[in-house]
Amino acid sequence: MEYKHILLPATKSIALVAHDNKKQDLLAWCKKHRADLERHSLFGTGTTGALIEKETGLKVTKLISGPLGGDQQIGSLITEGKVDMLIFFWDPFEPMPHDPDVKALLRIAAVWNIPVACNQSSADFIVTSSLFNSESDHLIPDYVAYMAKRAY
Ligand code: PGA
Repeated sequence: MEYKHILLPATKSIALVAHDNKKQDLLAWCKKHRADLERHSLFGTGTTGALIEKETGLKVTKLISGPLGGDQQIGSLITEGKVDMLIFFWDPFEPMPHDPDVKALLRIAAVWNIPVACNQSSADFIVTSSLFNSESDHLIPDYVAYMAKRAY
């Protein structure tokens, strides 16, 4: 895969998702980092987003609930360059009806090289990074170079 450089803006679009057993952990994390998060554009799956809005007052663009396709919506936004970062507290102890969507979201986040945190300590490292509130260089797949090598 060939990559190209883009500028990641200081104000990021951040997707927030938590499975039911992890929602309180994500909520606590959002409260702890509320001042940092409010400088950015927040997206969330339906229930997670509604809970964060209600409990923190942060503005969250709410997508469809995860089991109904919200994870896929976030994946689509990542592909379009409209989500720059993923905080996804998925539940390692419970199988989910939408496990394929969870896997797909994590895969697409890896493809587009966005920062991903799946637990509080990783999310703490991301939010306290000097890159969190500043412009930074970001490598993404070079789609033009990719297509030039495809036979069709
Ligand atoms: P929810 O979806 O925020 O609507 O609960 C999260 C998920 O299960 O992916």
